[in-house]
Formats: sequence, structure tokens, C-alpha cells
Amino acid sequence: MAKHTSGHTSSHKHKKQFGQNFLNNGRIIDQIVAAIRPQPDDHMVEIGPGEAALTAPLIEQVHTLDIIEIDNDLIAPLKIRFASKPAFNLHHTDALKLDYASLLNASKDKLRIVGNLPYNISSPLMFHLLTYAQHIQDMHFMLQKEVVNRITAQPGIKAYGRLSVMIQYRCQTESLFTVGPENFTPPPKVDSAIIRLIPHTQKPFIADDETTFNNLVRQAFSQKRKTLRNNLKGWLSAEHIESCGIDPSTRAETISVEMFVKLANLYAQTHPNEHKT
Ligand code: SAM
Repeated sequence: MAKHTSGHTSSHKHKKQFGQNFLNNGRIIDQIVAAIRPQPDDHMVEIGPGEAALTAPLIEQVHTLDIIEIDNDLIAPLKIRFASKPAFNLHHTDALKLDYASLLNASKDKLRIVGNLPYNISSPLMFHLLTYAQHIQDMHFMLQKEVVNRITAQPGIKAYGRLSVMIQYRCQTESLFTVGPENFTPPPKVDSAIIRLIPHTQKPFIADDETTFNNLVRQAFSQKRKTLRNNLKGWLSAEHIESCGIDPSTRAETISVEMFVKLANLYAQTHPNEHKT
């Protein structure tokens, strides 16, 4: 299929600070939309529409499309093109600061979030979104392929780290397909990939105190080459770690989400009045 920028030519100057790499290949756009599988009743949210490569096909297929764009120069063109569409709901704001619960209409409404994300803010944005996990049905994002590999990695794999644990604690994760740099204008320096994240309706393992869990995981990975016993010094003794069925001389990169939850819960039980940061 011929390359296109969703049916119109552009004079927009791409802004690096907003991570503007716009999709230019209709076949890839179709593949992403097919993976999202938009349904007529969906309440969809698109982060960073840019010049509407994904917006244009999505807006025809869903009941509500909230669109969040920070770049002032893109707002008027989006309004001119889509204001007459019933699903269109544009928010000229920073996706990192938005209160996503404010987008909900009915109590049973859940959001489907999509976006070819600006790579420089993708991790903080996912963490921000996960604070609204109970309101989110699923998320489909284009990210750097290396970040997708880290999020979906299993224990024992080099890519497994804090990001894998924190996201897998809250979501089912699935890497869908890779997208090469030639499919963007301008081309990024790295490969990209599409990921699907489905927040758990019932978390398989529950941390008694999520702040403690967050902090303990951060601490466990603080020095990658050190053992768990060394990284958790001052948090849990070797005996405590062993009591969870974990060898204290292993490294954090071999510890499953379930075991991290066990360690955090043991810490919370044995240090009820302490909140380490
Ligand atoms: N969706 C378009 C596409 O696939 O061609 C554009 C994707 S481009 C990688 C990222 C988009 O996110 C840009 O339109 C950019 O202006 C926007 N953006 C960057 N930072 C943002 C933020 N903090 N909040 C909302 N939008 C942002």
C-alpha cells in the first residue's frame, strides 16, 4: 500500500520536545487499528493524536473519542477536521497531568486508551495512567521496542527489571508486533512496538501497602549486580528473605512479581510503623 499521512499533506514542523514521530504508512495504521478492535460502544481516549493518523480511523468507529494533545499548533487543524464528528472530544492539555476519571460519563463506563506515545514521557505516563487502572478496560501503545521488551520480560531475562514488576503487578501485558523506523516521519533512531496492557480486574497477588511495594521493588533493583540481601540491607534480613522461600544471594532480576509482593508484605508486617522511601 502507498505511504500516506492519513489523507492530507502537512506543513507541520515536527517538534522533538513533544516526541513527534508521525505514522506515515497506511498498512501499519490499519494493523494497529485492527489490534485495538474498536467497538461502537467504546469510550476511547487517544493520547497524542498529532496529525490524526490513528484518530481518523478511530473516530468513525467509536461512540466517544477523547483526544489529548499538548501542542498548540495541532489544535486548530484537529478542530477543523473533526469538530463535526459526534465522537470528537478534544482536550488541549498535558496527558501527564490529566485526571482520567474526569472523562468518565457513567459509573460503569470504562476507558480504552490508545496512543503512539511520545517516547520521552512514556514511562511516567503509564505510571500516571495506572493510578486510574480501575477505570481502564485496556491500553494499546506504540513504545520503543526496548521498553516493550522490558515491560513484558519474565524473571531471569536480562530485560526484566523494575518496570516489568511494576506494570505486571497491575496489568496483563502482551507484545503485539514491531514497527520499523521507516514507518514514521521523521524516523526515530530505534525500533518501535505495539503493546497491549489489560489492567487486572482481580490482581493475582495483592500488596498490603502499595507504597511499600513500590519502594521495596525500587530498592531491590537499586544496584543491578548486587544480591537481594545486599540491596535490601536495612529492610529485611537474610532470614526474613529466606522465610519467603527466596535465596538471599540471588539478584532481583530472578524474583517474580509474586515473590516481590511476599517480600513487601513481610516488610509491612514486621515494620508496621516504618515507611521507607
Ligand atoms: N498519533 C500521531 C501518529 O501516530 O502519527 C502522533 C504521535 S507522536 C509520536 C506523539 C504525539 O503526542 C504528538 O502529537 C505530540 O504533540 C503529543 N504529545 C507529546 N507530549 C504530550 C503530552 N505531554 N500530552 C499530550 N500530548 C503530547
